Amino acid sequence: MLNIALFGPPGAGKGTQADLLIEKYNLHYISTGDLLRKEIADATKLGLQAKNIIAEGGLVSDEIIVQIIEKTINENPHTDGFLFDGFPRTYVQAYILSGLMIKLHTSLNCLISLELGEELAVQRLLERGKTSGRSDDNEEVIRNRLREYYDKTLPVLQIYKNKGIYVGIDSQNNIEQVHADVDKVLQSEVKKNLLNIIMFGLPGAGRGDQGLALAKKYGLQYISLGTLIEEEIRNETEIGLRVKQYREKGLLAPDEVFVQLIEQKLENTKGVNGFIFKGFPRTLVQSYILDGMLQQHGSGITKIIEIEVPALEAIRRLNARSKTKYAKAYDMSTENILNRMHEHEIKTIPVIEKYRLLYEIKKVDGTGTFEEVLELITNEIENR
Ligand code: AMP
Repeated sequence: MLNIALFGPPGAGKGTQADLLIEKYNLHYISTGDLLRKEIADATKLGLQAKNIIAEGGLVSDEIIVQIIEKTINENPHTDGFLFDGFPRTYVQAYILSGLMIKLHTSLNCLISLELGEELAVQRLLERGKTSGRSDDNEEVIRNRLREYYDKTLPVLQIYKNKGIYVGIDSQNNIEQVHADVDKVLQSEVKKNLLNIIMFGLPGAGRGDQGLALAKKYGLQYISLGTLIEEEIRNETEIGLRVKQYREKGLLAPDEVFVQLIEQKLENTKGVNGFIFKGFPRTLVQSYILDGMLQQHGSGITKIIEIEVPALEAIRRLNARSKTKYAKAYDMSTENILNRMHEHEIKTIPVIEKYRLLYEIKKVDGTGTFEEVLELITNEIENR
């Protein structure tokens, strides 16, 4: 999920910027001001309680806010994230927000503060008052709203500064410039938020089939080095021809050959929720390459799955596959199958050991049916 709070004085352009973001990032927009105005229009109990306070430019009680926010969040459980506008406005609301995020098993990615001086804010709101139809867009109430902002809301920023998730943006600029600045922040959050999975396991453990199913389920780009290479070989590219010679003997090609392939894929793939890697990294050098590439991409490894099957079972599966139309060139002889097993043992096991020190590797029993194994992996990914 991508959860963002837009912060700033009234008139800073939170609503305008929100309009430009919600569709692009498929976020559910929660403006406490809009929600309160709706309660007032519907003449609900909450609306009646809030009406006079809003008319005077004061802050509505935290009890009212928690009720309207909870209601909207509960009504929209399947969104890709929430965009909060005008919330949190008090210390108590900052805690309410943390609690709500915990309840949803997620967290606030960042708080974007649209910064604007007091006089400019007054000017903008007076201008807006000519057409907004909002009774609180008149000078006396505007000044009260700004007082409330400086007294009660601005100090809340410190919490987010301390957490390291505050981003300040100069909101004096025009709408397009501010949007470009805000969009840059969201883009980088999206990258940090990618679900990047590495699939480990013996050849024949089912990494490919499971990886493809996971890619579909979670909207990920499946990256199988083997498949990328096959395309190169089919297209008889320079890389393809080089790799072919190694490949037919069941050996690994030199690492620099792969860097370019994966880099291109990372760069050219847009609009996915993350990447799932199969058959890469296979060596320690490749693992450093992947770490570096993901970091350059503003991202990192999110989950590592190791599908476990006994070696004999893996050999039996590869042997069986060699007799079907799904046979791979390197399945075709016992010698090649054994070479691949050996390469896995001496080159890939050290990679798993390296990652074991850095991440919690999720081991999954791969001996069940396809559906059973998929469910085990899904449970691990979703931390069930
Ligand atoms: P806005 O549309 O965000 O400018 O909000 C209009 C008015 O609604 C504010 O002046 C407050 O009276 C009230 N309001 C909106 N959000 C909150 C909140 N999070 N806490 C308290 N009062 C709020």
